[in-house]
Amino acid sequence: MEYRDHELIIVGAGPAGLCAALYAGRSEMDAVLLEAGIAGGQLLLTELVDDYPGLEDVGGMELAQKMSDHAAKFGVEATQGNVGTITRDEQGRFLVEVDGGDVYRAPAVVYTAGGTPKRLGVPGEEEFMGKGVTYCAICDGAFFKGEEIAVIGGGDSAVEEGEFLTRYGSKVTLIHRRDELRAQAVLQRRFLEHEKSDVIWNTVVEEILGDEKGVTGLALRDVETGETSELSVTGVFIFIGFTPNVDVLGEHVDHDPSGYIETDRDMRTSIPGFFVAGDVRSQLVRQITTAVGDATTAVFAAEKYLLDLKERGEAEGASPEIAQEAQTV
Ligand code: NAP
Repeated sequence: MEYRDHELIIVGAGPAGLCAALYAGRSEMDAVLLEAGIAGGQLLLTELVDDYPGLEDVGGMELAQKMSDHAAKFGVEATQGNVGTITRDEQGRFLVEVDGGDVYRAPAVVYTAGGTPKRLGVPGEEEFMGKGVTYCAICDGAFFKGEEIAVIGGGDSAVEEGEFLTRYGSKVTLIHRRDELRAQAVLQRRFLEHEKSDVIWNTVVEEILGDEKGVTGLALRDVETGETSELSVTGVFIFIGFTPNVDVLGEHVDHDPSGYIETDRDMRTSIPGFFVAGDVRSQLVRQITTAVGDATTAVFAAEKYLLDLKERGEAEGASPEIAQEAQTV
C-alpha cells in the first residue's frame, strides 16, 4: 500500500469538486482532486443549463469541460480514483483509499461526492434496466425516437428532462404521485405547454411491464380511487430524486433523515477537518450555483483549518484532540 500525502483531498469532480479544486489551486494549496469517472458530475446528464449567471444557455457537457479546464489552469493534481473507503488514522489524518490500493492521506477533506439516482423499487425495474428503463435523458433519449415515453417524478429533474425528451418521443407522459408538481414554475410551464406532453396525476407505478425485447408498458394505480390501468410505453425515465453518496464514509458523520450530510455555515461537518459541499450536503436547494458557492466556502474553511493546525505545530497531521480544538476556533 502506497500513501500519497497532501494538504487537502477533494473527493468528487462535479461542479462543487471542480470549484473546490479551482480555489485550492488558486490558494496554492497542495491538493488532489479524486474523481471516479469523467469530470462534470450531474452536468454530464444535463442537456442545457439556463440558470448559471453569465451563461444564459450552455450545454451541461460544455460547462463541465469549462469548469474542468478552469480548475486545471490553477494546477491542482486531478486523478482518476474510485474511492473505496474514507477512514482516519490515529493522528486524525484522513485516509482515502482508491481502487488499486493507493491511499491518499491528508489532514483535511472537501467531500463533494454528490448522489446517485433513486430507484423506484417496483417489479420490472431491475429486469428492464438498459432495456427501456433509464435514469438519464441525455444519455438515452435518442434511443426512443418516435416512441411513447413515460417520465416518473414531479421535481425539477422529471419536468426538465421530460421537456428535453419531447424532442425524441412521439408523446411524453409524466406520471406523478400527487396533484401538483414541486418543479420550478418556469420548468413546469415549458413542459406542460408542449404539444407532446401529458400528465397523469395522483398515480403510482406498480410494475414495469415488458417482454424479451424490453419495456412494453406500465401498470399504474390511482392513489385516490385505487383504480388500476396500463399505459403503453417503450421508454421509462425515472427522476425521483437522489440518494447521497455516503457509503464510503468509515465513521459516523451527522446527517439529516434522508442521509444528506449536515454542515454549519462554513461547510464544517461533525468530523473535524471533513468539509462537505454540493448535492451530498443537507440544504434547501441543490443547484449548480449553490454547489459552487458552498465549495468556495469549504475550501477557505479548510485552508483556515489547516492554518490553525500548523500554528499548533502539527504540520505533519493532526491528533484528533488538536483537530477538535481547531474546529472550534
Ligand atoms: P426532487 O426535487 O427530490 O423531486 C423528486 C420527485 O420525485 C418529487 O416530485 C417526488 O414526489 C417524486 N418521488 C420521490 N420518490 C418517489 C417515489 N418513490 N415514487 C414516485 N415519485 C417519487 O428530485 P430532483 O427533481 O431529482 O431534483 C433534485 C435537486 O436538484 C432539487 O433540489 C432540484 O431543485 C435540483 N435540480 C434543479 C434543476 C434546475 O434548476 N434546472 C434541475 C434538476 C434538478 P413528491 O413531490 O410527492 O415528493
